[in-house]
Amino acid sequence: MEGSLTARDRVGIQDFVLLDAYTSESAVLDNLRKRFNENLIYTYIGTLLVSVNPYKELGIYTKKQMDIYMGVNFFELPPHIYALADNVYRTMLTETNNHFILISGESGAGKTEASKKILQFYAVSCPSTKLLDNVRDRLLLSNPVLEAFGNAKTLKNDNSSRFGKYMDIQFDHMGGAVGGHILSYLLEKSRVVHQNHGERSFHIFYQLVEGGEEDLLRWLGLERNCQRYSYLVQGECAKVSSVNDKSDWKTVRKALSVIEFSESNIESLFAIIASVLHLGNVTFVADSQGYATLNNSPEIHWLSKLLGIPAQVIQVGLTHRKIEARSEEVLSPFTVDQAVYAKDALAKAIYGRTFTWLVNELNESLADWYCASIFEQFCINYCNEKLQQLFIQLTLKSEQEEYEMEGIEWESVPYFNNKIICDLVEEKFKGIISVLDEECLRPGEATDMTFLEKLEEKMGGHAHFITHKLADQKTRKTLERGDFRLLHYAGEVTYSVVGFLDKNNDLLYRNIKEVMRQSKNAIVKHCFPSTEPDSKKRPETVATQFKSSLVGLTEVLMSKEPWYVRCMKPNEGKQPGLFDDVLVRHQVKYLGLMEHLRVRRAGFAYRRRYEIFLQRYKPLCPDTWPNWKGTAAEGVECLVKHLGYKPDEYKMGRTKIFIRHPRTLFATEDAFEV
Ligand code: ATP
Ligand code: MG
Repeated sequence: MEGSLTARDRVGIQDFVLLDAYTSESAVLDNLRKRFNENLIYTYIGTLLVSVNPYKELGIYTKKQMDIYMGVNFFELPPHIYALADNVYRTMLTETNNHFILISGESGAGKTEASKKILQFYAVSCPSTKLLDNVRDRLLLSNPVLEAFGNAKTLKNDNSSRFGKYMDIQFDHMGGAVGGHILSYLLEKSRVVHQNHGERSFHIFYQLVEGGEEDLLRWLGLERNCQRYSYLVQGECAKVSSVNDKSDWKTVRKALSVIEFSESNIESLFAIIASVLHLGNVTFVADSQGYATLNNSPEIHWLSKLLGIPAQVIQVGLTHRKIEARSEEVLSPFTVDQAVYAKDALAKAIYGRTFTWLVNELNESLADWYCASIFEQFCINYCNEKLQQLFIQLTLKSEQEEYEMEGIEWESVPYFNNKIICDLVEEKFKGIISVLDEECLRPGEATDMTFLEKLEEKMGGHAHFITHKLADQKTRKTLERGDFRLLHYAGEVTYSVVGFLDKNNDLLYRNIKEVMRQSKNAIVKHCFPSTEPDSKKRPETVATQFKSSLVGLTEVLMSKEPWYVRCMKPNEGKQPGLFDDVLVRHQVKYLGLMEHLRVRRAGFAYRRRYEIFLQRYKPLCPDTWPNWKGTAAEGVECLVKHLGYKPDEYKMGRTKIFIRHPRTLFATEDAFEV
């Protein structure tokens, strides 16, 4: 614990609950800044961990540090992600229940790094046997593979996760890791074919081109030059100084082998990556009637070889779509624009499905959020609303309910319940996603604009929804005609409807699927199964799939105990040592820190079941040591009287003791020393 007053002035306070001043946003900000300037990136709010990205190596993730935090009481040492990891683990073992750690924050705030630190800590701290080591290694190694295929350089983060991730680790009753599971959500597939200026496609492409062995590249028909590939140069920044594609390639290649991907699967996998690059270089020429044609280009040759599909079949598939006219099937030729669109759709589908395959494969061996296109951003923001709702249900609400259940008097804390926004997005028949799906059911008639009109019809008057048409004069000036604006709990976001229908449909023509089905590449074959419902039966839209997976995830998490890591970025420039007050204040707000703090302060920072409290502290009192004969509650009462707890510092509930300030507990811990 950080002791003297002067030290406290300098390094701030390690738990916001201890801030003496009326806890205003400014006081929170001051404390964060003070600590950040001293390289103290971690601060608690009770058991919630706040982390500010230092953008530099601090030397605080060594084996020695891990040893220091292993098995030590949470409050005895300066805040650390290891302390949280250790505390979760120990609570799980003593209370034999399920837990989850929710890591949130904006792009570049340090979520992925935090999750890796937690995993590394468990890898070292959990008991080890041959079998468990296997699981552990695989969990650790799945990270570089997932990052290679799912992360990319963006303007905000050189290693930005372009998919949501939920990782599950199963422990046995001895505390050994016996299994794991990864769920991935909404990979940003559009990145495969297009990147904004200053951004890249997924790392794996550059790794392969830069790092792939000569033989491999020759076999794949690739040149060692990213500039040669249209899909890699959209953002005009194939090289990134902070990323070493060559050495990352080695890491990924090795990880794939250790995880026991078969050599033939690894070959198929790289054949797919190369195919996507070749596909990107395919160009179409208009014939005399304006229809797209393909010259017998080298790209088609390589696609044919790598995917194991006859060149002719690919050629037809890329330039036509099959239409059913009465009982006949007719091939209708594409214009050049349509062909380009279909080609990009195919590249996205191949990559997206391969990513899903990869995650499943990683799971078999085992048994973070981002800035995206508008539509994807809409999904991400919806996800954040759901997570906020989970936080409210599990923490704010449950906190209040626990006091009630335990019969503890307290003053309730008001908070904004964002259920109203979740409903606006997801409600059956009425929500935005429903309206969007309905419009997607009217091909040919519906457009992005008719979608907007439908929204205006249904949502008009909703306090959290506004459009150009619905707005008052002043607000109208800030909106375009094709926009709608949602008042999220974290602030207003304006969405342009352009592309919503297309992105939600994620259409791939049936005949091109049929073409892919013929592939001799084992992974492609698996990703385009013949059992897939064809276009006659509508596949679920992207938004609806996303919604179902979020609802599923929320249900799983509702039955577990929550722990939180709130990651923040100190500045937009990825710079060490720079603390931008405005930026951090905004994050303090929308990460819900003030609500959390208010609940913690109004209530009792720490609580322990009587049995556990007594077990730990009974040596401190001659009456309870070594054995207490009465009930645990009586024992605790006797113990705290002996320790001199003041009446307003603690409350006795039905099953637990509640302690207002962590400092009371610190003092009790300190009593062991004397
Ligand atoms: P995204 O939502 O884009 O995936 P993220 O929250 O996962 O972002 P990270 O990739 O974890 O962000 O972090 C971005 C970068 O910040 C890292 O690559 C690393 O350089 C730096 N960073 C993050 N956390 C730490 C830390 N604890 N110590 C040192 N550097 C860090
Ligand atoms: Mg990430």
